[in-house]
Amino acid sequence: MITGSCHCEAVHYEYNHTPRWTTSCNCSICRRLGALWIYAKVPLIKVTGPTISYAWGEKSLAFHSCNICGCTPHWENLKPTEPDARMAVNLRLADPEVITTVRVRHFDGADTWAFLD
Ligand SMILES: [Zn+2]
Repeated sequence: MITGSCHCEAVHYEYNHTPRWTTSCNCSICRRLGALWIYAKVPLIKVTGPTISYAWGEKSLAFHSCNICGCTPHWENLKPTEPDARMAVNLRLADPEVITTVRVRHFDGADTWAFLD
């Protein structure tokens, strides 16, 4: 299990899975957040604490930020189409020693929608 928390520690997550990699995405929001996403099926992730959410465009995803300190712990799928829909938590909120154990893959979410490695 990987755990993470925002800066003020009001929001916590538990990620009950083993990530094969973490995704650094260059899309319009991920590049601004500087997030490293790790994905899992929704039931394998638990997030607690006060957040505000942000969605735009087709509103298929909502990015959640702590409503006290502003860190972004996760995004949720607003249009889950399959029973095994996924969500993601931001590995940047985990212990730095944990972050170094996970391979980073760069994803071209801005253009080709493919990994760049
Ligand atoms: Zn916070």
